[in-house]
Amino acid sequence: MHFDKVRYELKCLRCHRHYLPHEITYYCPDCKLDGSLDVVFDYKKLRLRLNKSELTKFPFDMWRYHELLPVNRSFAPRLHTGGSPLYPVRVGRKGQVWIKDDSRMPSGSLKDRASALAVALAKSQSVRTIAVASTGNAAAALSCMCAGSGIRNVVFAPTSTAREKLAQIYAYGAEVVRVEGGYDEAFVACHAACEENGWYNRSTGLNSYMSEGKKTVFFEICEQLDWKAPDRVFIPVGNGCIVGAAYKGFHELLQLGWIDRMPKIMGVQAEGSNYMFRAWMKHSGVDGVLPMSSRTAASSISVGLPRDRIKALRAIEDSGGEFICVSDEQIFSAVLDIAKTCGVFVEPGAAASYAGFLKFDTPTNYEVSVLLLTGSGLKDISGLLKSGVINDKTREAVSLI
Ligand SMILES: *Cc1c(COP(=O)(O)O)cnc(C)c1O
Ligand SMILES: [Zn+2]
Repeated sequence: MHFDKVRYELKCLRCHRHYLPHEITYYCPDCKLDGSLDVVFDYKKLRLRLNKSELTKFPFDMWRYHELLPVNRSFAPRLHTGGSPLYPVRVGRKGQVWIKDDSRMPSGSLKDRASALAVALAKSQSVRTIAVASTGNAAAALSCMCAGSGIRNVVFAPTSTAREKLAQIYAYGAEVVRVEGGYDEAFVACHAACEENGWYNRSTGLNSYMSEGKKTVFFEICEQLDWKAPDRVFIPVGNGCIVGAAYKGFHELLQLGWIDRMPKIMGVQAEGSNYMFRAWMKHSGVDGVLPMSSRTAASSISVGLPRDRIKALRAIEDSGGEFICVSDEQIFSAVLDIAKTCGVFVEPGAAASYAGFLKFDTPTNYEVSVLLLTGSGLKDISGLLKSGVINDKTREAVSLI
């Protein structure tokens, strides 16, 4: 450890090597795409120096936790990111339930937390071009955070990207490369272009810093619950970065002594995109099952080979949580449920957390569960209309007249 010279170190979760921040970019030079780095702070020192009651000196946004972020807050993009509401809701006899509404971020998804961090890091390193592979939200978030920053933004989007998200990305002024295939093909194309041109790559899983942005949502949840950790947190899983960030965030709060137990992390996947679920069921490690091309209408969690699978599996196994699979039908019906009962309109990928919670047999009536809502419903109107759930309901309503 070299904490006398630097604020944090990077530790590879595959080969266990340690690096200083300036020694490498954002992935392990030995393990490359197969590795994954943790950003490790000096928790002993932070525990003595930080006081959670002093957080309220800062505005309620993701930069409030800047002591636990790997970049100086002076580089933060100006858009208000983080600080989303936590609402109590009633869902049957399933204990105390809260929803965390991150559909309200600047570009409409939780990805803004990661992209804000990426742009801050890029600014601190005088980067000129940032690229990303994305099914839509990560790209929209990145181009939103790049807007007006002078940083060039290149997006690798699969041809299946929702029209709404694509329009949004163009509106923010990104350069878009359409890639034949799905997310997995876009990821490979983006990586190749970044290596060749020396661009900064924000792609989830490859850029290990992205979980540092996403962990802030879990700091907020604990702060909003008066520093009482919930029993379970339900999270949709695509690349696995958000679930990985949940573990990282809660683990840091434990080390600071701000919470006293690790919540069980519940990762929810779509049945047609269930790599993590299969790997977890089989106890075969992160590479023990075959990737399959993904088939789900919930585009933001449609991933054949999750790029943050090391952190994702650690999160579920070390927290005592579970992976759950839900059908597209359950996902779309959850979109309507959340809208009707909570007044929050989310996209299918986000509704997976709610669908997973409904499917899960909550062991007692006393549990506290948080359902993470990760993206706005306005981002995939065409997917919702195509699903038929709205049409069926409308027909029902008409027949009542
Ligand atoms: C990206 C995304 C997810 C999944 O996050 P991962 O970190 O890829 O697992 C879930 N919901 C929405 C709306 C997203 O944009
Ligand atoms: Zn390594």
